[in-house]
Amino acid sequence: MNPSTSNVFPFDQAEQLSTFNSQLSTSKSAVICAHVNPDGDAIGSSLAMKHYLERKGWQATVIMPNIFPDFLKWMPASDSILVYTNQKHKEPIKAAIDAAGLVVVCDLNQPSRLGYLEQDIVESKAPRILIDHHLDPDMNFCQVVHSHPSLCATGEVICQLLDEQGELDEISTDEAVCLYAAMMCDTGAFSFNSNRPVIYKYISQLMARGIDKDQIYRNVFYTASEGRLRLQGYMLFVNMKVLHDTHTVIMTLTNEERRRFKVKNGDTEGLVNIPLTMLGTRLSIFINEDTEHPGTMKLSLRSVGEFPCDQMASRFFGGGGHKNASGGKLQCSMPEAVEKVKAAIASYADMLKRV
Ligand code: 5GP
Ligand code: MN
Repeated sequence: MNPSTSNVFPFDQAEQLSTFNSQLSTSKSAVICAHVNPDGDAIGSSLAMKHYLERKGWQATVIMPNIFPDFLKWMPASDSILVYTNQKHKEPIKAAIDAAGLVVVCDLNQPSRLGYLEQDIVESKAPRILIDHHLDPDMNFCQVVHSHPSLCATGEVICQLLDEQGELDEISTDEAVCLYAAMMCDTGAFSFNSNRPVIYKYISQLMARGIDKDQIYRNVFYTASEGRLRLQGYMLFVNMKVLHDTHTVIMTLTNEERRRFKVKNGDTEGLVNIPLTMLGTRLSIFINEDTEHPGTMKLSLRSVGEFPCDQMASRFFGGGGHKNASGGKLQCSMPEAVEKVKAAIASYADMLKRV
């Protein structure tokens, strides 16, 4: 069947997509990609798109700029994901992009977030579609943009698109598992950014497709290594600095410490959220030395309530994100990074001190 006449979500919902659809008709092979340092929503929404497209008769390859956490490696077809930083995957990734008649970009708002994949994706001839929930999307690098910053996850954007097409009750269990995991990961298991009733409508529809949500929770959250638990204790006891007057917490982790605790990929995930459980904390900042680029400090910011971490991340750390969860980078030593973070906090002191 010609894809332009087969009602392939989400490419032929609107009239303005007809040009896009005509470009699609030559190839039924797709590449799906997401942001650097992929998280549960990036992997879950990308794999959901793969299962979706394969059910529609497409051939779909998921590619990622760099490695993703081990605790996501249970997701259906996660073992098929090609990772650019893996030398053996470089050629197959290039071949997949060259052969693609469609590129689906998930969970990012600007091409630079593609990291190592940016150039190949932006230069590819295939038409591109963006599915995302970050603020301020770059509307120019994809022909079709499904951007919904008010939704909790890219997984939810896909649920909404499927629901609008009346297809959410017909998806496969694999699609449902990936979509549930995507939303669960971006909302801390539905503990933040998840107050809209429609999220629970989607969850109930996904459950009707046969997912075991309790198992999905355990797959993601009950997978700590001994090193992770010991690291957690060390981080909270030794490396956590509480700035009481500004209700802010700073935690740090260097690669040297990472080696000492035999920290595995993904073991640091979620650590930034822990200080928020301390009564009164408004802002938690985790400075994490980049494993792939020693000397680069990655910052994770989390806030509760009205404090705009995305603003702080873009003003001080060359990053961005969401109001309550953002990130950025600094090129400097750890002690210098701590000083820069303290300066950023000082400039928001009025807002952070307020009772
Ligand atoms: P995390 O702390 O989990 O690495 O990132 C939290 C959120 O912040 C991500 O979902 C993403 O939206 C945003 N983010 C993290 N790092 C960067 C960055 O370097 N640039 C931008 N623009 N956003 C980032
Ligand atoms: Mn997301």
